[in-house]
Amino acid sequence: MTIDIEKYYQLALLALQKQKEHRKFLADLKKKAPKDLDKIVKELHQEVFQEIDCTECANCCKDLGPDLTETDIAKISKLFRMKLSTFETTYLRVDEDGDKVFKSMPCPFLGGDNLCSIYDVRPKACAAFPHTDRKKFTQINHLTLKNTLICPAAYEFVERLRKRIG
Ligand code: SF4
Ligand code: SF4
Repeated sequence: MTIDIEKYYQLALLALQKQKEHRKFLADLKKKAPKDLDKIVKELHQEVFQEIDCTECANCCKDLGPDLTETDIAKISKLFRMKLSTFETTYLRVDEDGDKVFKSMPCPFLGGDNLCSIYDVRPKACAAFPHTDRKKFTQINHLTLKNTLICPAAYEFVERLRKRIG
């Protein structure tokens, strides 16, 4: 089975409608998680990402963008053989939380084919998004809830988790 990205173009609306249910489900899960939650989360993450083609979406690269760590910046600058300061001036700004982020979105490294042109050195936050494969998953409920509004995979993951755990 393949997840049809087209149907998720109305995702934001759908996810918004389900925010209350999702919030309650995740909060209840945090209070009383099954012992094998980490295992279930890992299985469902793999299942969802086997069925989804991120190149048909790229919402995270178009709208969200990562916070870049100093290591991320050093790696990407090295790839372009740019001085750190030049790279930062060209591509980055400091946001209201003091984090270094891309000056503009969509991400300057997103190709027209929705592929990341710096995939091997992409920021850690990009590689980890939408954080549905981590242990102690309920520690980031607030983030997961937010991500369901933009990421079809995160939305589908929470829906499947609800079905699995009930
Ligand atoms: S991680 Fe989520 S938002 Fe990003 S491209 Fe994949 S499905 Fe879309
Ligand atoms: S660096 Fe790559 S993965 Fe990260 S937002 Fe840009 S295009 Fe997407």
